[in-house]
Amino acid sequence: METEAKFTFDEMWEKILDCDRKYDGLFFTCVKTTKIYCRPSCRSRKPKKRNVEFCFSIEEAERHGFRACKRCQPEIEKSPYVEFTQQVVDFLTGHYQQKIGLDEVAAYVGMSPSYVDRLFKQETGETPRSYLEKIRIDKAAYLLASTSLTNLEICLETGFQSTSHFYKVFRQQKRQSPGEYRKEKGERRNG
Ligand SMILES: [Zn+2]
Repeated sequence: METEAKFTFDEMWEKILDCDRKYDGLFFTCVKTTKIYCRPSCRSRKPKKRNVEFCFSIEEAERHGFRACKRCQPEIEKSPYVEFTQQVVDFLTGHYQQKIGLDEVAAYVGMSPSYVDRLFKQETGETPRSYLEKIRIDKAAYLLASTSLTNLEICLETGFQSTSHFYKVFRQQKRQSPGEYRKEKGERRNG
């Protein structure tokens, strides 16, 4: 299954700065100067932005002459459920703009909803629902910082069904409101 680019360069760059494990397997960081490729969560020293390119499969990285990082070992599948987890993550990141629930995820991977919930939690520490909300909030944060879309537009763009729910989840995850977040990011950018 080919994963298409669902994130901009800057989004992926921010995720690797955060060593965000949620995105492991979705894309790989290729460092042009060292010819090494890494998982997004790799804890090695971060390369310079201009030396980085991203690819979406191990095959693609190796085809371009990159070798796997010894530290994060992106080429090693660490669990027999890697493929399952990957499928669920692909589905969630591909459909976060729509109204989706556990039933849709379960149908996609061909398992029962309760089993999907349990197995995904075991593998990632998140339920599909909480994972989906994190993807949505990451996306919303990115849009707040980099576009002039209104809160309502961003709420709809990121698949939230109501602004009150959007505000609530945003505050839970970012400890501030969307407006505060945008203001802070804007000040940092301009100052
Ligand atoms: Zn690495």
